[in-house]
Order: sequence, then C-alpha cells, then structure tokens
Amino acid sequence: MNHSELLSIAGNFGTPTYVYDADTIVQQYRKLQNSFKPLNVKLHYAMKALNNINVLRLLKHEGAGIDAVSIQEVHLGIRAGFLPKEIMYTPNCVSFSEIKEAVDLGVMINLDNLNILEQFGAYYGDSVNCCIRINPHIMAGGNSNISVGHIDSKFGISIHQIRHVTRIVEHYNISVVGLHMHTGSDILDADVFLRGANLLYDVAREFPDLQFMDFGSGFKVAYKDGDMATNVEQVGQRIAESFQEFCKWYGRELELWFEPGKYIVSESGSLLVRTNVVKQTTSTVFAGVDSGQNHLLRPMLYNAYHKIENISNPNGEKKLYSIVGNICESDTFGNDRLLNEVREGDVLSISNAGAYGFSMSNQYNARFRPAEVLIYDGESYLIRKRETIQDLIQNEVEIPALVQQEELVEID
Ligand SMILES: *Cc1c(COP(=O)(O)O)cnc(C)c1O
Repeated sequence: MNHSELLSIAGNFGTPTYVYDADTIVQQYRKLQNSFKPLNVKLHYAMKALNNINVLRLLKHEGAGIDAVSIQEVHLGIRAGFLPKEIMYTPNCVSFSEIKEAVDLGVMINLDNLNILEQFGAYYGDSVNCCIRINPHIMAGGNSNISVGHIDSKFGISIHQIRHVTRIVEHYNISVVGLHMHTGSDILDADVFLRGANLLYDVAREFPDLQFMDFGSGFKVAYKDGDMATNVEQVGQRIAESFQEFCKWYGRELELWFEPGKYIVSESGSLLVRTNVVKQTTSTVFAGVDSGQNHLLRPMLYNAYHKIENISNPNGEKKLYSIVGNICESDTFGNDRLLNEVREGDVLSISNAGAYGFSMSNQYNARFRPAEVLIYDGESYLIRKRETIQDLIQNEVEIPALVQQEELVEID
C-alpha cells in the first residue's frame, strides 16, 4: 500500500480506519506454507489476531484452517465457511460445558489441564478424538505477557506431568490424536522452535495413536526498520528434517500443524489516524490524533514499537514528535519519533497494525471502534462500518425508577 493509496482511503472512509492489504496476507501465508514444503503441513490461522469475516474467507481460499481460543471464535469460524474439522479449539481456563459445546460442533479439542482431561475421559471415553496441550517450559518470546511456555505460565499441561496424563488417558481409554505446544509470540530464534519440537517428540513416545503434532506459533515480524523477523525458511528446513526423522522412528507420517496469527496479518495492516492538534509543551511537541489506546493497545500494553509516518506531508522537514491519542490516559503511540512536519489535519499511518489491532480495540471513553477496509484485487472495500452511538448503548438496560420525571414526559 503506497502513501497516496492510503491517503485516498483516509479521504474516502474517514479516520480512524484500519486498512489491510489482501495481497500481503496471502503472500505471508504462502511464504510460511512453502517453508515446510516437503512436509504435510497444515496452517491453522490464529483468528484472535484479526477476525473479520473477509480475512477469514481470504485465508480459507488459501487452504488454511483456523485456531480458535473461544467458543465464540469457533462460531465465527463456522460462519465464515470453515468446516468444523478445519478448526482447532485451543481454550484456556474454560468450563467443561464449553468443551462439550465445541465437541457438539465437531471441532478438534485441545485440552490444556488435567482436571478437564479427566472429565473429558469420564464423559466421552474413546468416542471423541482430542489433542493435548503440553507446556514444555521454554522461556521465549518478546514480552512476559505473551510468553506462555515458562514455568509460571497458566497454559498447557506441564511436561513434568506426562505420567499423570498417561495414567488418565489409559484409565479412560481417551483417544489422543494430537500433541500441541505454543511457547509464545515474537520468537526469533530457530533453535527455540527446534528445542520445543524435540521435547514434544519425546512426549509423543507415550502416545501411539497420534495423527498430528502442532508446534503452535510465535513467528516474529519486523516492527522497526532494521528489525529481524523469524527466518521461516530456516525454521521450516530444520523442523522438516527433524520431523521426518521423528516420523520414521514413530513408524508413520504424521501431519505437522502450526497456528500463526501475527506472521500472517501483522504487516498487512495500517491504522490511519488524523492529527487533531499539534501541541507544544515545555518539554515536547505532541501530535494528538483522533484515535488512541482504545484502538491500538499494543504500544501501551506491550510497550510495542509501531512505525509511524506522516503520509500527508512526505516532503516536510523532519521534526521530533510524541504521537499521542485522545483518551484520558497517557496513551502514547510513539515517543521521540522523527516525522515529516506534522500539521493539524495531516493523516498519520501506523504500521504493522494488522495483528492484535482491531481485535483488541474497545470503546473506552465512549469512543467508537474504527472502520476496517480491505484492499482486495485492486479495490478498497469497507469490511466493517465505523460504530455509531447506537453501538455504545444497544445492550444497556434502563431501570424505570431511575428515569427522571422530565424524561418520562418526553417519552410519553
Ligand atoms: C495467540 C496464539 C497463537 C498465535 O500467536 P502469534 O504470535 O500471533 O502467531 C497461536 N496459538 C495459540 C494457542 C495462541 O493462543
């Protein structure tokens, strides 16, 4: 997406608006798929990164499945046209009733604690296939909130509890067809993926009926100029080698699954915002924009770096700015950034906003969530309308006794 395309989208659809480029999504998907070429690899898109139905359908056309982390995501996936068998359901800390609902829908269930595993066995015996999420206790990832494999993590069943797992599995005759791990996000190093894989191969010796192994995700993308991204070709080649070796030992070709989110959609997206005020204080020049942490939480939540450009004034003199939102919090998109001179009304583009951007947005300060636009086949399509006041109040229920007399008169 070049700057003039983005600028015309801001003009046509208003701001703040998320824009995604379908070609980039497809390109990232194919790149990852091709990295594991010699293998029977299946990618389940982690839809929590960006769940617009059009993005889901785009990836369905590419042959992707879906990784869903809530029963609602399962429903959205089915609505987008995915078959239940193409959906992996990987919940955490859910009640058994939600597991039952997912089984009824026919999706693959990934169990991540011993109590639920035992309830699953007692209820279903060997009648429903399942996968088990193992926590290999590998410390990896860009931020403690998104590192999920470490010793203090709430995710998965500890690799040290395998004996307890097999005890339950044998007693209830549970049909374990998959093993899964997901150690975190923003993992750069191919060795980390390989270390995890090796640990999972060891666990697999205890499970003779496997059909697949799922190595999760965590592929890192470049946020800053000069940032490194995971070398997926290298990861692919090394995992492919070790996986083939493992399958030979296991005696059967298994499917290899991954569930990338960020890698597929992050770079496809930009958040377009308009500068409301340029404000000089004693210490700083602020560019205050018509969006905030309610629309893109990652800078505030993860201290994430998102590149910001002034697309309205590409030849302006470079100056130092702090780019902030309009929320009653110190919501900052970026500090001390060199931008082409920012004037009130200029449109800024915030990059790498495709993953965990819109999907983490909220209505704090009673602001509307942004519109979403997809550039597909050379056209820009509105794929989600900007919210309205109706969206803010539609679920609110009024207590009649609290309604003021004057208002009652008005209502009558
Ligand atoms: C969030 C998540 C993913 C996707 O992680 P990315 O870093 O966005 O690729 C994959 N699997 C599970 C279980 C997750 O919770």
